[in-house]
Amino acid sequence: MQDRNRIVTPYTDPDRFTPEEKAAFDAGKCCWDVGDSHWGQRDTMCHQPSQPGAPFGYCVVHAHRLLEDHWPDGSPRR
Ligand SMILES: [Zn+2]
Repeated sequence: MQDRNRIVTPYTDPDRFTPEEKAAFDAGKCCWDVGDSHWGQRDTMCHQPSQPGAPFGYCVVHAHRLLEDHWPDGSPRR
């Protein structure tokens, strides 16, 4: 049975992370895609410090955003 409350990391779910996202996770930074790239920017990740134990290594803001309509494992709540 799928446990929707488990915490997803690059070590539990390697196929759900790009190398860049895993590098951010390992550096303790949020890998949330903020969506808008500024000129000269190589990626669009949030890069705020990760909240300890947060799914996907997200920061406080983005862990909260994820959990508004997703389970901690990233599956939609409805
Ligand atoms: Zn973030």
